[in-house]
Amino acid sequence: MARVEILLLGTGAGDGWPNPWCRCRSCDWARATPGAARGQTSVLIDRTLLIDTGSARRAAVPLDDVRTVLFTHAHPDHADPQPLFWRQSAHAGTDRREAPLEIAGPPAALEICRPWVAPAGPVTWTPLSGGQRLRLASGHTVAAMPARHWPDDPHVGPALLYNVDDRVLAAWDTGAPLPEHDHPTYDVVLLDCTNGLGPPVDDHHDLDAFAHSVTRLRTRGAVDEHTQVVAVALGHRNPPGPELDEVLAGIGASAPLDGTVLVAGREPARSR
Ligand SMILES: [Zn+2]
Ligand SMILES: [Zn+2]
Repeated sequence: MARVEILLLGTGAGDGWPNPWCRCRSCDWARATPGAARGQTSVLIDRTLLIDTGSARRAAVPLDDVRTVLFTHAHPDHADPQPLFWRQSAHAGTDRREAPLEIAGPPAALEICRPWVAPAGPVTWTPLSGGQRLRLASGHTVAAMPARHWPDDPHVGPALLYNVDDRVLAAWDTGAPLPEHDHPTYDVVLLDCTNGLGPPVDDHHDLDAFAHSVTRLRTRGAVDEHTQVVAVALGHRNPPGPELDEVLAGIGASAPLDGTVLVAGREPARSR
């Protein structure tokens, strides 16, 4: 199996980090440190699969190779529909054709996007729910798992986590514990750590929950000594960068900045 390349377009919480309205120590640190600000969590895989659009507005690479936009849920920091509209305007007035695009994710996320996509455009819609496994137009195979995130709000999802190609676990905007699932051993785990040192909440991980979830994934073989465990959806309740790095190192994890490229590519693939 070919390697998988993951560009972290954004690694921050819904309010980013710093929160623009806040002067706490963590926000002041992020403001004062070049390159430390984090946008809303979204990742670009192999240039063809975009998971969430929260940071697509400021992507440093062109998105024209994207063939599937995959949404985790319908919160606006994840399902920002405007970049889909810009895709149409990119070709307006030229003789270039809009390439086919698949928009996949929970029904609530697809409904948010529909008004922003021309009905006659080359777009297909793939509603997803927990337990589904399918091949996307981007060529990646995803298994969808239910997240623990706003389960009682029909306008949000139901929110999903994704196993991509049995190599990458995309698990943000979820509380702990993660769903029991037939996990492979991942090369890269991208795990919610929104709430940092804040009080425990049901819909996100704090640092204690993050450590607990990593331990559970290790116990089940989903994380081994080669797995890169990466904290994402990071908000300002996390301590300033160097302190966060130290805490995460003790868990065997890290918090690379926006713009970082991760490579998942061990051989052979180890599904079990
Ligand atoms: Zn703050
Ligand atoms: Zn959310």
